[in-house]
Amino acid sequence: MIFMDLDGVLAEFCEAFSRVIQTFDPTMPLITTATQPDWGTWGGEMTDERLNYGWETVKVTKNFWERAPSLASPEVFARIAAAHKEIPILFVTSRIPTAGNSVQRQSINWLEARGILDPLVIVAGGDARGRSGKTDKASIAKIWSPYFTIEDGPQNALDYAAAGFEVALLDWPYTKDTKAPGIHRCNLTEALEMAGVPLL
Ligand SMILES: [Mg+2]
Repeated sequence: MIFMDLDGVLAEFCEAFSRVIQTFDPTMPLITTATQPDWGTWGGEMTDERLNYGWETVKVTKNFWERAPSLASPEVFARIAAAHKEIPILFVTSRIPTAGNSVQRQSINWLEARGILDPLVIVAGGDARGRSGKTDKASIAKIWSPYFTIEDGPQNALDYAAAGFEVALLDWPYTKDTKAPGIHRCNLTEALEMAGVPLL
């Protein structure tokens, strides 16, 4: 089994969250996953006020997760769609609840809209904001024993590695300082290669 994260791996969370904040503060720059400089402060742009507004708005936005833009390419979605019944892939996310469908259902609908049918999704606990880095993804991994994990969150990657799991950590700017034995910093295509997901 492969554990695969959603936001920052397949889904473009940073851009969607930046847009939410812009509705309250037009001076918020549009920051994408590829340009997000650091996990904590987004290069100093993510003030507490913006962060709180952003999460409070996400919570009351109907089906926010279902409407997130894609981050991965259509080729990657096709590759996962073709492989995920042969190589079990568990999509593990710590998304927070919003208005509308459950996180589980929103994530399934989002993946199915990209051709990945009947995906296995599990929602891991995070903190109320879903972003402090404390999560129990590694605890879930101890139960399922994935042979490979694909993640963009620095703390999640460190937790996986500390628990003895191999991690492909996506090479976005905010992961540049995250290093530990078992963590391989790479792009998504390289991660799928390492995970043994066949090319189409
Ligand atoms: Mg993520």
